[in-house]
Amino acid sequence: MKRRDFLKTSAVTTAVIAAAPFTAQAAEKEKSKVRRYQEIGKTGLKMSDISYGTGRLPSSSMILRAIDRGINYFDTAPDYGSAEEYIGGAMKKIQRDKIIIASKFCVPYSYPGHLPPGSKKSDYIKAVEGSLSRMKTDYLDFCFVHAIGEQSKSKDEEMKRLLSDELFSAVQGLKKTGKMRFLAVSSHGPDNMESLLSEAVQSGQYDMIMPSFNFLKFPRIPNLLREAKKRGVGVIAMKTLAGAKDMDFDSKGSAFEPAAFKWVLSHPEVNGLVITIKRVSDLDLYLTASGEPLTASDRKVLDLYARHYGKRYCRTGCNECESDCPKGVSIATTLRYQMYFNDYGMEKHAMKSYAGLQDCAQPCFICDNELCVSACPYGLPVSDLLREAHKTLTFTV
Ligand code: SF4
Ligand code: SF4
Repeated sequence: MKRRDFLKTSAVTTAVIAAAPFTAQAAEKEKSKVRRYQEIGKTGLKMSDISYGTGRLPSSSMILRAIDRGINYFDTAPDYGSAEEYIGGAMKKIQRDKIIIASKFCVPYSYPGHLPPGSKKSDYIKAVEGSLSRMKTDYLDFCFVHAIGEQSKSKDEEMKRLLSDELFSAVQGLKKTGKMRFLAVSSHGPDNMESLLSEAVQSGQYDMIMPSFNFLKFPRIPNLLREAKKRGVGVIAMKTLAGAKDMDFDSKGSAFEPAAFKWVLSHPEVNGLVITIKRVSDLDLYLTASGEPLTASDRKVLDLYARHYGKRYCRTGCNECESDCPKGVSIATTLRYQMYFNDYGMEKHAMKSYAGLQDCAQPCFICDNELCVSACPYGLPVSDLLREAHKTLTFTV
């Protein structure tokens, strides 16, 4: 959705969603349920292959609807708006041991609220206890060190967050008291995604990793996935829709989202994926991919998408270009925030996050060499995209 369109239509959209008739949804319900569960690494826990990312959870009732469809894994965080409170609102009606809850070591303020390097044992414990209290539960199945590679361009700095003694000591205590079961780490880059996750896998401290992974990218990710599987570390994929852009071209009657999910799940190392689910129609569409093989027509849709958007989608976690920028612009993060604005419907969140970004794209308006463009191996018009992103995310013209 374009910025101007968003301003005009957001109120109308909200009203339409609220008024959606339940009868049609009930008819669809039988068609789309989870059909496959897979073990997460060697944790003994089996997750639905299509699982719930609560980044834009609209209500407690959506959790119950998802459980009714067979989804049993819920990914949340203290800095995902009211998501944890909504899960807490549904908790009385949930048989807790039938679902898996994963949250993050974060503070409940605006995104990104990840605990920084140098955090104390007490900070980690407080973060988990806050999540438990908001979700009205006694334990987390997983807690994530979230978005490793996002806080610092320096791998050494992020390693302090990844392999912190204070973290491990807190986790040991939390496990002992039954407040959390397994440790996990996620990354969508922009910096050192593959190598940081690889360090996590090799450390023997982590039970699961969650990388960005989709059909458009990541030449080195398959090695990481194989290593994780070899060591019994679980893998859950995120950012599976490669930008989640609207299909404004003829996709020959096939839906893009299920095809993208099937591609991810066709990798035997991947135990499942999490996807943001905002409404019942998302459940109807997304769950059609559960337990289904990738077909020739799925591949055609993915090829069409790649041809249409491959030169506009910034591969989160790639970051081949930033070291070439003399101004140190946070290129991948700026373009990720623009994706949140344009394609994820997270306009406010994206603008707020961009406002807090130190190395924003302002210098791109007076740049005379544009070295980022030749540095991008995927042929993106990086400088143009950055200027467009800056205007979008600051509401300037
Ligand atoms: S346009 Fe110039 S300032 Fe902007 S990211 Fe590219 S090289 Fe850096
Ligand atoms: S602009 Fe190109 S090189 Fe830079 S992070 Fe995105 S895809 Fe990678």
